[in-house]
Amino acid sequence: MIEQMALSMREELIHMRRSLHEIPETAFCENKTSQFIQNKLSELGIPYHVIAKTGVVGLIKGISNEKTVLLRADIDGLPICEESGAEYKSKIDGWMHACGHDVHTACLLGAAKILNSMKDRLLGNVKLVFQPAEEGVGGALPMIEEGVMENPYVDSAIALHVEPMEEVGNIQIKDGAIMASPDDFELTIQGKGGHGAYPHTCVDPIVIGSMIINAYQTLVSRHFNPMTPVVISVCSFHSGNCTNVIPDTAHLTGTARSLDKDTRAELMKVLKETAVDIAKSMGGECDFVFKPLYPPTINDKAMNEIIKNAAKKLNFIKKIVCLEQASMGGDDFAYFSEKVPGVYFKLGCGNREKGIVHPIHSPKFNVDEDALPIGAAIMAQAAFDYLEKCGSLQ
Ligand SMILES: [Zn+2]
Ligand SMILES: [Zn+2]
Repeated sequence: MIEQMALSMREELIHMRRSLHEIPETAFCENKTSQFIQNKLSELGIPYHVIAKTGVVGLIKGISNEKTVLLRADIDGLPICEESGAEYKSKIDGWMHACGHDVHTACLLGAAKILNSMKDRLLGNVKLVFQPAEEGVGGALPMIEEGVMENPYVDSAIALHVEPMEEVGNIQIKDGAIMASPDDFELTIQGKGGHGAYPHTCVDPIVIGSMIINAYQTLVSRHFNPMTPVVISVCSFHSGNCTNVIPDTAHLTGTARSLDKDTRAELMKVLKETAVDIAKSMGGECDFVFKPLYPPTINDKAMNEIIKNAAKKLNFIKKIVCLEQASMGGDDFAYFSEKVPGVYFKLGCGNREKGIVHPIHSPKFNVDEDALPIGAAIMAQAAFDYLEKCGSLQ
């Protein structure tokens, strides 16, 4: 029945997604997007409130108040110039929904419509969370700090993310860690500048920086257990501005990624020690700053079962792909699943025959819109099933 409802909403879902696709907005400035969501919830008669600037929280009350399941969609776009060639391409110069958050939002609005029409059969509440600022800044934590997990208390959380590398009709799931901690670091090396012809009178911050970068790669291969995934990438190195002057300073930034708390803590420690010690041993100094972003996203096994079983009830889901490896990307849904049992899964939206093959964050990214009813249906089915399994008529 949920599948039929989702299929009958196909055109409406596509229309919503395309409308959102035209107005990608940045972190905490998703004003038009937020208004669009509020209008749709109003049309459906679903009460909502606005938190964390542009976040929207709707509540569908079932026939019991015992359990509440949170469904989350992120709503922000990216600073990318769209080259998808779509007729509904972004109307905002330099901005694009290149991570499919327009799809997530449309799917959650679709699930909201389905669940709202079944609320006299829901054994609990469904909290609809439209979250700003997933890309980099993070909107999940501000929403939690402003009370999204309370009134009513949230017992579990579910989110999906589009995956163009998976064919439409399939979903990807994984027990345990599915996304990494995508932490950043910055270091400033203080050397002593001078003439390029007389290096012995200088402390060269460029050479110190190069040694640090090499040592970081050795940390991955020699310090960490080879069975434990770790990524250390130095992604910028700025120093000097001419051919014959050794500069005073060098500034490096990068990303450090891990899939569990212990490895993350160890990374914070050894990245700093390595940089500071190398700089010192070469006569310089290093100011190291670790900038923790999100925790790793860890899936709860029982919640994963809910998704698996929901997918099996929906005939338009052809294949449930059990991933063997996590992604080293990150998602701040991690904050929700850190608080309560949660599940984050991938919704196939690729289609090789139609040429829909470009990865997320590519200017050519697009989705097969057949993924929209599937996404709406599985979110609705999973929420319904969770409440039927864990809720009661008390
Ligand atoms: Zn993204
Ligand atoms: Zn994303």
